[in-house]
Parts: sequence; structure tokens; C-alpha cells
Amino acid sequence: MDGYCTHCEQEVKVSGVRHRSEGFCPNCGVKVTFLAESRAKHVQDWGVVAYFQKTPDGFVIRHFSVTKRYGQDYRHPELFIFELKRDFFDGNEFDFYEWRAFRSSGKIRWCDGWIKYYPDDAMIYTKNLVKALKGTRYQYCALKEYALNDKELGVRPYNYLYEYRRKPYIEYLVKLGLYRLVYELCHTQYCTNFLNSGGDSIPTILGVPKQYIHVVQELDMSLNQLSIYKKLIAMDIRMNGEEFLRFYHRYYDQTNTIFKIMRYTTLHKAERYCEKFVDDRQDYKNILHTWKDYIDFCEELGYDLRNSFVLFPKKLQDSHDEAAKEVTRRREKAKKDQIRKEERQAKKLLQGYQKLYPWSEGEFCVVVPKDLFEIKEEGHALHHCVGTYTSRVANEQSIILFVRRNEQMEKPFYTMEVQKGKIIQCRGYSNHNMTEEVKAFVEQYTKKVLNKIWMKEAV
Ligand SMILES: [Zn+2]
Repeated sequence: MDGYCTHCEQEVKVSGVRHRSEGFCPNCGVKVTFLAESRAKHVQDWGVVAYFQKTPDGFVIRHFSVTKRYGQDYRHPELFIFELKRDFFDGNEFDFYEWRAFRSSGKIRWCDGWIKYYPDDAMIYTKNLVKALKGTRYQYCALKEYALNDKELGVRPYNYLYEYRRKPYIEYLVKLGLYRLVYELCHTQYCTNFLNSGGDSIPTILGVPKQYIHVVQELDMSLNQLSIYKKLIAMDIRMNGEEFLRFYHRYYDQTNTIFKIMRYTTLHKAERYCEKFVDDRQDYKNILHTWKDYIDFCEELGYDLRNSFVLFPKKLQDSHDEAAKEVTRRREKAKKDQIRKEERQAKKLLQGYQKLYPWSEGEFCVVVPKDLFEIKEEGHALHHCVGTYTSRVANEQSIILFVRRNEQMEKPFYTMEVQKGKIIQCRGYSNHNMTEEVKAFVEQYTKKVLNKIWMKEAV
């Protein structure tokens, strides 16, 4: 069918294209979105353009908003351009100005600072760029090479120059064609951890041995790809670009799983093993996870994963389920043992506290619990969480004491937690605060009992 390219402004012939599909202009080769004349009555394109100009001491980056509107007569679009901001570099630092309403006066004029316009990715006019940067500290920043990258990666000129000052190696990354890394370095903050900014060569900065740099280059790796590739190298696994891409696409969202498995076997063997189990109920990822869980269980149970009968069970699901059962059984037993141990320890401690902590004055008294069971019961009765403090009690981190009324010694009333001679909290039913009377009692208790015990222990 007949077409018209709004980029090269030529009549072209295209075939087999649909409305809104993407492709390339057969004449100029630029990436295009195909639009049906009957369905796209009004089309609007928008972008930001950055234009560098020399100033007496440095340069200014002027940012323009550019809108192209295609109406019925799409061969003659309308162009709307207005200037958004100017970033001045005076040889030392930047000054920012925006075209906006001045404070409350509402008058539209050039104003100080960056307020209105978030830095958008811009298209940079590159023809005068070298000249504009010449003689400044940005002379070798390789912004032009970066801006002309073929990956359609946008650039925020000020961000780029800012990052370049902190990471001058950006120049070399650009020259190696590592545009994606540069893009991420200029658009995100988190990535500094990945790269060794203090390195004095590309291999040390990227953390990749020299002989692998060409793979990083060939794929123009992203930071995420690079970090995975580095892990493979650290595991002594060599992959060329094609192999790595395949690996990355298959495992980028489960690197922990596959790396865990690869501690025990090769990627090739792992994949062959997993693929055996794939059917319409279980896909590859599922199998992989089942296996990884099984391996975790084996580690916990101390099974010998170097033994291939253990590592590659004939019936993965069955072996997984068995191991899971055994793990659960052992964990429960360990928990029971732990609880029993804590009960024993606590009992001994609480017996000792019996001699020190009980006290009575007026209508209240302090009671030492007999065992952890009593502490749990107190929690149930008062609807608060002291029941979860039993481990702390057994480990001597906390002392739990009950405040009771002398008239009703058996009835839970308030519960105190004491640490290092100080009352950390004292709560009543449903975590309620102390009444004035209880507060007064507790203050007396601190003075007359706790402080004395603590003083003695300190001596
Ligand atoms: Zn064209």
C-alpha cells in the first residue's frame, strides 16, 4: 500500500503493516510507527531538544520543548517550539534558569533554579557540541559520541556532565560503546556500588578481567547483566556473548536459584536434568524451584550433595516431599527441645528471683511467676503479648513480674518487664496503662527493691 514517511517526507510503498504497528521506513530506514490515514486524524509528537551555545566563560545548555502536530494535512505538520530552561556553565559551576511564573507576581520570565521542569531525556544537537565544550573541563566527556549512540538511549545533558565529573571514566565507557552502562550511571543513583569508581583501568572499574571485556562490549551490557556476568566469571564459568544472552533471558529473574544449583553441578547438566521433568503440569521454572528447595533441604539435613544419587534424585517431586517432611520433623523437634531447655533455665532463674523480687505495700504486691507457663497464662488472661517474652526470660534479658492486688493474689492484674534494674513497661488488661495508684506503687517498688538489687549486682 501507499505510505508517507513524515521523517524523510517521501512517498513510500509498504506491505503487510497494521495500524499502530512498528517498523522501519523503506526509504530512510528510520524507526517508525505505522498509522492508517483513516484512523489517525490527529497525531502529536513531542520531545525535548538540548542546544549548546558558547558563552564568554563556558557554555549554556538551552532546552526546548518541541511539538509536531499532524492534522488532516499530515504532509504539512505544524511545529511548536518554546524554550524551557537554560543551564549556564561559567567555567566553575552551573546556574539554572527556567521560563516560568515569577513567584506570586505571576509574571512569566526567566527565574532562578530548577522547579518546574523535571529533567527529561533530550535529543542533543551535536554539530556544534565539540566547539561548545572546547576549553572547558568537559572537553573530553564524550557527550557527542554518547548522544549519537544507536541504541536510542536518551540523555539528560546536565546529569551526564554532573556524573562525568564524579566518574571521569564515563568517557572510556562511551568510547568502548558501553552506552547502556552510561545511561544507567546517569539516570540512577544506586549503581555506584556495582562499579569500582576508584579503579585505574576499565577492567578494574567494571570488575571484569581483561579477556572478558569484549563480551561486555559486544552485548553493551546493562548493569544488571554485568553483575550477573561477573558472578559467572567468579564461578569460573566462561560464556561467550551468545551463551550469556541465552542464560540471561532464561534466568535473569531467578539468578539466586540457578546460582545455588550451579554450586553443585554444571549448567548443562542442571538443564538436562530439569527438562526431563517438564510436562503440562510443571513448567521449567517450577521444576527448577522444586529442585532448589530440595537442595536447600538436603543442606539443612546434612545430606551429601556431592553424591549424584542425592543431587539428581530419580523422582524429584517424591524426594522433595520426603526431604520436606524430614526437615519439618527436625525443625519441630528442635523447637520442642529449645522450649524444654528454656523452661528448665527459666525455672532455675525464677527460683532465684523468688528470694529477691517479691514485695508488698498497701493494697498491692509483686509476685514472681513460677515458670514460663504462668507467664503465658498471664498473657492470655490480660490479652497482652507477654506470652511471647518467654525466651527473653530464659536468656536473662528480661525479668517478668506480676503486680497483683493483695485481696486477689491469684488474679492477673498488671505485668512488669524489668531490664537492668529498670521497669521497661508495666501493662494491664489489653495493654492498658497504669492507674495512678499502680504507678505510685511501682515507683515505690523501684526505689525500695529494684534499685537495691541492681546496686548490689553492680558491686
Ligand atoms: Zn523515511
